[in-house]
Amino acid sequence: MVTSRTLDAMAGASLFLKCENLQRGGAFKFRGAYTALSRLPEPQRAAGVLAFSSGNHAQAVALAARELGTSATIVMPLDAPASKVAATRGYGAEIVTYDRYAVDREELAATIAAERGLTVIPPYDHPDVLAGQGTATLELIEEAGELDALFVCLGGGGLLSGAILAARATSPGVRIHGVEPAAGDDGLRSWRAGEIVHIDVPRTIADGAQTQHLGRYPFAIIREGVDEILTVDDEALVDCMRLLASRLKLVVEPTGCLALAGALSRRESLAGQRVGVIVSGGNVDLDRFAALVG
Ligand SMILES: *Cc1c(COP(=O)(O)O)cnc(C)c1O
Repeated sequence: MVTSRTLDAMAGASLFLKCENLQRGGAFKFRGAYTALSRLPEPQRAAGVLAFSSGNHAQAVALAARELGTSATIVMPLDAPASKVAATRGYGAEIVTYDRYAVDREELAATIAAERGLTVIPPYDHPDVLAGQGTATLELIEEAGELDALFVCLGGGGLLSGAILAARATSPGVRIHGVEPAAGDDGLRSWRAGEIVHIDVPRTIADGAQTQHLGRYPFAIIREGVDEILTVDDEALVDCMRLLASRLKLVVEPTGCLALAGALSRRESLAGQRVGVIVSGGNVDLDRFAALVG
């Protein structure tokens, strides 16, 4: 957990940052992947796992598989960033590439999994995955103590739903805020509508939250458990990337800044409060980082 007087002065509140950019694999995703893999029955785990992702979930599943002594197959688009492909391969995973304009990845993943007898590990729509993601909030509250408010980014909803379960059990009075990119406010719309709303792939620099809809398991928890869903624009994310790098010496990817940007946008209502912020990840190529903050 990281705190900063500069940040507290800016926010007018005491902020407690859970820095998952410093987590193994560079994002909180390792928590869910490891939890899900470790709960598989031994023969099933030994047969190997499969994930389809071009992002942090792929690295997390590859790393968790290596830790638990099994094999991971990762289905990635041909045009996935070279650094992500290299990192995933570096953790020992087998990479299967596909043309994202010609092939449906879920079908391809299901076919490969069936042929090879692998278990698919989804990025958020799974009880063990979201339970694992919840440990980030559990640790934050154990270290910071009771909180008045908690800000968590929102993509498919694994991190937020896990946070709700952990926070409600350990810091019952905390107000929980989910934060999405303004261009992809499907979570807010779903929450208001009381059912999962689907959208086109949103145009945002927050690539970890470019999901088109919430997962069913996360939504069931978010629907009842969240106090507010708010959105922030890309400019606010870049401002936070700059702030975290220059003042706290933290390299955070755009998606990882959603929660902090959300908290800073709610300054007035947070005055004097104890506020938890999940900084969700730090996997961003340095060239891209420089281009964004430059
Ligand atoms: C996956 C991811 C998210 C979104 O998490 P969900 O569980 O899909 O809501 C946010 N930030 C980072 C860095 C991620 O990798």
